[in-house]
Amino acid sequence: MGQAELRAGALEPRSPVHAFVGLGANLGDAVATLNWAFAALADTPLTQVLARSGLYQSEAIDCEPGAPPFVNAVACLSTGLNAPQLLAALQQLEQAAGRQRPYRNAPRTLDLDLLLYGEGRIESASLCVPHPRMGQRAFVLQPLAEIAPQWAAAAAAPALAPQVLRRMNDPATGLT
Ligand code: ADP
Ligand code: MG
Repeated sequence: MGQAELRAGALEPRSPVHAFVGLGANLGDAVATLNWAFAALADTPLTQVLARSGLYQSEAIDCEPGAPPFVNAVACLSTGLNAPQLLAALQQLEQAAGRQRPYRNAPRTLDLDLLLYGEGRIESASLCVPHPRMGQRAFVLQPLAEIAPQWAAAAAAPALAPQVLRRMNDPATGLT
């Protein structure tokens, strides 16, 4: 999808959806890039930034040894874009920030992942929502918990569910 198709006038009106975007950078001035990205998200057609988490620093995961640490954050959007349109808009911002993909998990000037699109579940070749790895990543869950604790708890639940944990001293369960 090109920039022209993303212009507000070319888009079908649809009711706004709350979407969460994970931001990450470990190349260049990562803090400046994330701050630029928050402003750019607010300038995206049919889209508002409702909340932004603080910035977090995290060790690189699944990257080559010695990869620089990341700066991460999460944004809550209200958007009239559909999910593929929103992904295309995120990819355009990555491009504008100089994102290159020389190899898998390479250091990046800007990574924008669509974590959640309302209650939507999407599994296509180019888009999986909820983001498949978000429930195992502290650099997603912690900033998400800052702005939407209920969504962070729901995202972490599948990874935690197999671990049996019963609350004690609870009249409701009778466990002492
Ligand atoms: P990663 O973020 O996994 O390190 P990339 O940013 O290079 O890697 O994304 C690789 C591909 O992942 C993209 O081309 C995109 O089509 C696909 N993708 C699938 N689901 C999502 C999602 N929820 N958010 C962002 N990209 C996604
Ligand atoms: Mg990505």
